[in-house]
Amino acid sequence: MATYIVLLGPPGVGKGTQAKVLAKQTGLVHVSSGDLFRENIKNQTELGRLAQSYINKGELVPDDMTIAMVKARIARPDCEMGAILDGFPRTPAQADALRKILAEFGDDVKVVPYITAPEEMLVERLSRRWTCCAQGHVFHELYNPPQKAGVCDIDGSELYQRDDDKAETVKHRIQVYLKQTAPLISYYREQGKLVEVDGTQSIEQVTQDLLAALRQ
Ligand code: ADP
Ligand code: ADP
Repeated sequence: MATYIVLLGPPGVGKGTQAKVLAKQTGLVHVSSGDLFRENIKNQTELGRLAQSYINKGELVPDDMTIAMVKARIARPDCEMGAILDGFPRTPAQADALRKILAEFGDDVKVVPYITAPEEMLVERLSRRWTCCAQGHVFHELYNPPQKAGVCDIDGSELYQRDDDKAETVKHRIQVYLKQTAPLISYYREQGKLVEVDGTQSIEQVTQDLLAALRQ
């Protein structure tokens, strides 16, 4: 059986940061739907062109496009042992689709760590987030600063602030999360897969709690 983990939580709570650490520690692949969209935008694909207007407005990209993109990613051989899904699913329709996709391989989502933090903290984290243009590594001006401002510690590429991390777009993204993604909390709780993790703690402590959740 493969190990598919869904990281659930609002924008800015630390899913991407933690997914990268967990991927290293578990050997599972990190699959971020946001990174996949940004890669398509960078490569000027048709999908990227269609997705960009939704992303810039802080809206969700329509389910059919998102599901097809993630399905193709999961079908690649490096996901055979499982994956850490970050930012997907984000709607009940996506969660149902994921279930069907994994069932085709005789698998299912194993555990859903749900990372929480209050809204003010999310805004504070996103408004000072710096993202690496090569591989999406993330830093924070105060809480996880790069050694050299504007340069990624890991691959040396340039850091930039995402257009959708502007305060007004962030506030809208949080509303979209509450309306469209929060129903997944009870969806996975009812399946006995949800494990709550306090995302207000230090990055290292959140990692420890996540690793404990995965061992359960
Ligand atoms: P998400 O993928 O959930 O949107 P990120 O992992 O990109 O969140 O984190 C958002 C911002 O908050 C980044 O700037 C990151 O460095 C910072 N961050 C992540 N986790 C923590 C934490 N536990 N404490 C303080 N800052 C954090
Ligand atoms: P964050 O790290 O702040 O949570 P992401 O990088 O996951 O943000 O997503 C950025 C944007 O990409 C979202 O606001 C949305 O427009 C789009 N997106 C990412 N994942 C999905 C998804 N599963 N369904 C629909 N849209 C998505």
